[in-house]
Amino acid sequence: MNLLEIKDLFVDYTTKKSFTGREQTVHAVNGLSLSVNNGEILSIAGESGCGKSTLAKAIMGLIPVKSGSIILNGADLKNPAQYYKKIQMIFQNPYSSLNPKMRIKQILSEPLEINTNYSKQEIYKIIVEKIESVGLDSSILNLYPHEFSGGQRQRIAIARSLVLNPQIIVADEPVSALDVSIQAQIINLIKSLKDNFNLTFLFISHDLSVIKYISDRIAVMYLGEIIEIGKTEEIFNNPKHPYTKALLSAVPELNSIEKREIVKLEGELPSAENLPEGCKFHTRCPYMMHKCDKENPGTSEFSETHKCRCFLYP
Ligand code: SF4
Repeated sequence: MNLLEIKDLFVDYTTKKSFTGREQTVHAVNGLSLSVNNGEILSIAGESGCGKSTLAKAIMGLIPVKSGSIILNGADLKNPAQYYKKIQMIFQNPYSSLNPKMRIKQILSEPLEINTNYSKQEIYKIIVEKIESVGLDSSILNLYPHEFSGGQRQRIAIARSLVLNPQIIVADEPVSALDVSIQAQIINLIKSLKDNFNLTFLFISHDLSVIKYISDRIAVMYLGEIIEIGKTEEIFNNPKHPYTKALLSAVPELNSIEKREIVKLEGELPSAENLPEGCKFHTRCPYMMHKCDKENPGTSEFSETHKCRCFLYP
């Protein structure tokens, strides 16, 4: 069952050029449609600058959308106040996402004090339950964030995301600021929270090894569009879009285990200020055909769950 449904979403924002001071419009999300099923981890994969974090912020109501809709459990999330209880976010950097002046107890209690009428005792019971669910002891509640390691801080941030019992958690590069040994612990924690509490995650990462391990399904994003989506095994064992193949080819340890076609990714991601016409990948695609720079390809289906947008397929 679809829990979150994003339909034809466009998000633009304006930046100022540092030298000229001239304003430019960045087309970060361009007609993106996506469904997240209840109880799954759906990962968004793509290079830096492809629009992943902008999508996360738009879902959270942190930035305005130009057009399109974000529907959670059948309700259109037009009013940002609706977001806070239902969708929570885990940020990339646990060093900056926790207020250094607040004790852990205050950090975890604050969302409950603002959004519920629970008594102090009820709130304390909830925060003890959540801090223990992320593998920390309730004796740490009187400490400050600077007294913890990066991995422990990310556990606290995850506990904070759980206190309001959200329907979905958006995790934006939640392990990329952590040491590799700690990354594995946090990824396993997210997986066990999903299994134990039937939580739903939209997991955003540029790291395909992490994505392969944690995801039920994967959506590959390029210049603000989803260009391929499928179950984890469909994307890794049978990638269809040249961009997906190129992303997988760029991770040598994945290629040595799984023999697949190697596609070299040439050039840089084009600027989202001047989007290419037609298929947005045509400026880097080794298979580019005559119509690729004129028309945007439609969706080809390889299974009920595996779809891609490329003229190579009927
Ligand atoms: Fe390459 Fe054309 Fe497919 Fe785009 S539509 S990925 S340019 S072959």
